[in-house]
Amino acid sequence: MNLHINDTFNKELPADKSRENSPRQVLEACYSFVRPKVPSNPSLIHVSKEMLQAIGLNDSDAQREDFLAVFSGAKVLEGSDPYSMCYGGHQFGHWAGQLGDGRAINLTEVVHKDQRWALQLKGAGETPYSRRADGLAVLRSSIREHLCSEAMYHLGVPTTRSLSLCLTGDEVLRDVMYDGHPAYEKGAVVCRVAPSFIRFGNFQIFASRNDVANLKKLTDYTIKHFFPSIKGGTKESYIEFFNAVLDKTLAMIIDWQRVGFVHGVMNTDNLSILGLTIDYGPYGWLEGYDPNWTPNTTDRQQSRYRYGNQPSIGLWNLYQLANALFLLVEDAKPFENALERYKTEFGPAKTKMMRAKLGLASPMELDVDLFETLEDTLVLVETDMTIFFRRLAAIEKSTNTDDALSIIKEAFYPTIEDLPEATIDQWKRWLQNYIDRLQKEERSDEDRKTAMNLVNPKYVLRNYMAQLAIDAADKGDYSIINELHEMLKQPYAEQMEYQKWFAKRPEWARHKVGCSMLSCSS
Ligand code: AMP
Ligand code: MG
Repeated sequence: MNLHINDTFNKELPADKSRENSPRQVLEACYSFVRPKVPSNPSLIHVSKEMLQAIGLNDSDAQREDFLAVFSGAKVLEGSDPYSMCYGGHQFGHWAGQLGDGRAINLTEVVHKDQRWALQLKGAGETPYSRRADGLAVLRSSIREHLCSEAMYHLGVPTTRSLSLCLTGDEVLRDVMYDGHPAYEKGAVVCRVAPSFIRFGNFQIFASRNDVANLKKLTDYTIKHFFPSIKGGTKESYIEFFNAVLDKTLAMIIDWQRVGFVHGVMNTDNLSILGLTIDYGPYGWLEGYDPNWTPNTTDRQQSRYRYGNQPSIGLWNLYQLANALFLLVEDAKPFENALERYKTEFGPAKTKMMRAKLGLASPMELDVDLFETLEDTLVLVETDMTIFFRRLAAIEKSTNTDDALSIIKEAFYPTIEDLPEATIDQWKRWLQNYIDRLQKEERSDEDRKTAMNLVNPKYVLRNYMAQLAIDAADKGDYSIINELHEMLKQPYAEQMEYQKWFAKRPEWARHKVGCSMLSCSS
């Protein structure tokens, strides 16, 4: 395999002095060297061709025995020295101390076409950060991570990527719903790829230990490699860095809201310093539009990480990062200013995103009112978010209200005959306002439709779709994985051959584990 290995993280930053692979606190180090667990009978299920090319490999490389060996954890690449990162984090609002890569092992960094990529196995066994867990991942959650990270990339949402999905041939014990019914599942390993996997928590762990020297080393390293427009080493540069992270985080969350993605576990250890969607666990997609929805059963009570709360959690997490970086600057004011900026800029950024979703090219003051009344109307009756916005593009300046209602009614979960009159009336009022607003647009209906279809996806990885892929894969049939992966490469295109996936969630999936109910147990 012709990979251009070019390690920096494990060359430029301090390592754990011990190579012992047992759970422990790791001090004054950014990572620990560890070797992946050798799988008993590995096999390759799926490879992302786009990712393969991005790191400088081709299709025939993926057929080679050593590809499977390296990306299942059986063999360590020559010239590499794999490691797991040390980080901490706030989990569900509480400081949790050291967490770290409990089941992730960074293999190496490669450079291809001037782009740096870190390759990381998820589920390749215990590390010093595994605490009481096994360091393994099951097929179910690995399929979800592999498919969703590539789908997000093609949706244009900043994200970590996934190169490959392998079965290990080993069995893994999991209690899916934490109800005392553990069962064996197939073990799997995904190779995740990103310029870097550094998280907010990597900075927090040093700050929590008052280890300013290592906090500075990590920050300087991050700026040097990933924020090259900033000249690091000074207090000003750390403020600039924080502002850049804030911008990226805000932009990522706006994208999540645009496509209806709910991360599910926005703990600070799951927030990438590069503003990438990271750690696909109990994530989910809004089917019926509901700002209070979270896919994560572990969080059902509080619903801290519900769809509608993601923007403010982003800010909350940035406060925690600010607290960590404060130690390098010793002046709170510039951080407060930056955080204030998130508050003032989020609204306009959301307005811009909503304008694009509604196809409004010429900004008007009344638009915000139109968006707010839409949000109120969307929750009156369970309405499929993806189908609604996609159908909306079919409404034209000359459409009458009744026809407009017929156009979007496909998005309602109950049949329209079952809806109370007041609900129908409210929908008609909103649609009439929308049509009135469209008439003020200079752009043609055709051009607006084209533009809307570039921001409102037709195909997303609905929760039940991932589950169908999982159920088939469990029986050794990978055809749905292949089909969904192919389809989700062009989420905005009509792709009539995949029309069956442009459909509301089937009734059987409403309360099914894995579809509407997911836990952190993966
Ligand atoms: P999460 O919020 O799911 O990203 O995980 C929180 C922490 O638990 C991270 O430090 C993970 O590395 C760790 N973790 C999750 N699952 C496992 C596992 N099966 N084995 C070891 N560590 C794990
Ligand atoms: Mg995590």
